Amino acid sequence: MDEELQRNLNDKKPRKLPKKMPWVLPGSCEGCGDCVNHCPRECLKMTETNAKGVFVPWILDPFLCSGCGKCADCCIMGGIVTTEYVEQAIERFLKKRPEIYSQ
Ligand code: SF4
Ligand code: SF4
Repeated sequence: MDEELQRNLNDKKPRKLPKKMPWVLPGSCEGCGDCVNHCPRECLKMTETNAKGVFVPWILDPFLCSGCGKCADCCIMGGIVTTEYVEQAIERFLKKRPEIYSQ
């Protein structure tokens, strides 16, 4: 993990990190938005399109996520799974779509 990201994690970490974190698989997503509607913390937002041209979900603020897994449970397409590699998932969320976090 690079130093800047580690600093961000340390600065932003409001509490203990969850045991699980969603892992979005854009290629499997059909853009229905069910995961967004099922997130009790309103963490998710439909963002840019995947290779099939449909909008896919991404986490607005990974530090809000409780790791409840409701987003993954409601997805019948397997577009979101959960991972126990929480720091790697946060790193991916923050790095892959930095435009979300600069809004
Ligand atoms: S990840 Fe699943 S539930 Fe979420 S928008 Fe894509 S297909 Fe729908
Ligand atoms: S794991 Fe729970 S809190 Fe986190 S994004 Fe999914 S539904 Fe929201």
